[in-house]
Amino acid sequence: MSNQLSDRINNLATSATLAMAAKARELRGEGKDIIGLSLGEPDFNTPDYIKDAAIQAVNDNYNSYSPVDGYVELKEAIITKFKRDNNLTYTLPQIVVSTGAKQALYNVAQVCLNKGDEVILPCPYWVSYSDIVKLADGVPVEVKTSLENDFKMTPEQLEAAITPKTKMLWYSSPCNPSGSIYSKEELRGLADVLKKHPQIVVVSDEIYEHINYGVTAHASMAEFEDMYDRTVTVNGVAKAFAMTGWRIGYIGAPAYIARACNKLQGQVTSGSNCIAQRAVITALTEPVSRIQYMVDKFQERRTLILGLLNDIPGFKCNEPEGAFYVYPDVTAYFGKTFNGTTINNASDFAMYLLENANVATVTGDAFGNGNCIRISYAASEDQIKEAIARIKKAVS
Ligand code: PMP
Ligand code: GLU
Repeated sequence: MSNQLSDRINNLATSATLAMAAKARELRGEGKDIIGLSLGEPDFNTPDYIKDAAIQAVNDNYNSYSPVDGYVELKEAIITKFKRDNNLTYTLPQIVVSTGAKQALYNVAQVCLNKGDEVILPCPYWVSYSDIVKLADGVPVEVKTSLENDFKMTPEQLEAAITPKTKMLWYSSPCNPSGSIYSKEELRGLADVLKKHPQIVVVSDEIYEHINYGVTAHASMAEFEDMYDRTVTVNGVAKAFAMTGWRIGYIGAPAYIARACNKLQGQVTSGSNCIAQRAVITALTEPVSRIQYMVDKFQERRTLILGLLNDIPGFKCNEPEGAFYVYPDVTAYFGKTFNGTTINNASDFAMYLLENANVATVTGDAFGNGNCIRISYAASEDQIKEAIARIKKAVS
């Protein structure tokens, strides 16, 4: 039978982060000693106090469908968290709990975008943004940024990218993959441009909020009164709480957008996993200081990996202020031949490192910047040291 798949799926790119992780797993299965620095996933276990809440929920017989947009108690915990951490005031109809921040982002694209609507994505952006936008018939508009400006979009660049078709702006801060953080003043600069274009809705992805190394304080676009009514604040527990597999994310949004996400979710997945939701009530209610030990470790590893990479001629790094990635510019290697392999671009380079150094990274193309590769340092110190030593050897 011929291929009966839709154009939609035939045209969809595979998630590069997940594909690289799968490739690393496959090679490991073949007996290769692969160090996986491709996936953005903490190497910590979920803290015991959160696990205990999940066990309690099982024993309390939380086994039925939850409300589509999440348990009221969880939505209340999210409201309290938004107030406590972000000085944002939301009410119950403005909150939707989803199966990961990924589904939250997918919902927002589906409910906000019509065919041909443009979505501004400052590059580098998180890998799935462009394909989530395309799945909703939107058109990603990439705005190139520079390492010199810490990979941040300036108000002038934003202004220049806006057209009558611009419907949304999506960004993450702290940024996956660059680790950059927009200060409140920088966000205000972008908001001043957006003030002139009231049709633009902003998606502020703050999933790395707590993984912040203290240089630039976290700020939310929705903190500005004139942006509150057109900003969707996306967050989740995967990263800071080491809960990637639990699959809980959420939004705080204008009520009409939240209602639309609820309607969509009701036809597609229903409420997210009931046990995970109960555990997240505890995760969000307990003081953030309880997860600081992981953030401290990430910070130590950032210092370690930056020191090691800056020692390799050809790797040019910005200094990430949050999240757990480095995003070095590796253009110095383009056109060079190592062990018979010519490196023409970042994809060749990532593949070369996988095959010759047994280290999995992700090509920068996947994030809208083909000069770089992404390396996750959510791994042990020993793994980081060994991986960078192997990379250094492979390119010397
Ligand atoms: N946004 C960003 C910036 C991310 O790095 C990720 C990674 N998973 C997500 C959203 C999706 O998070 P979740 O695992 O909660 O779906
Ligand atoms: N967000 C993580 C990453 O960027 C997890 C992988 C994914 O969901 O694509 O690696």
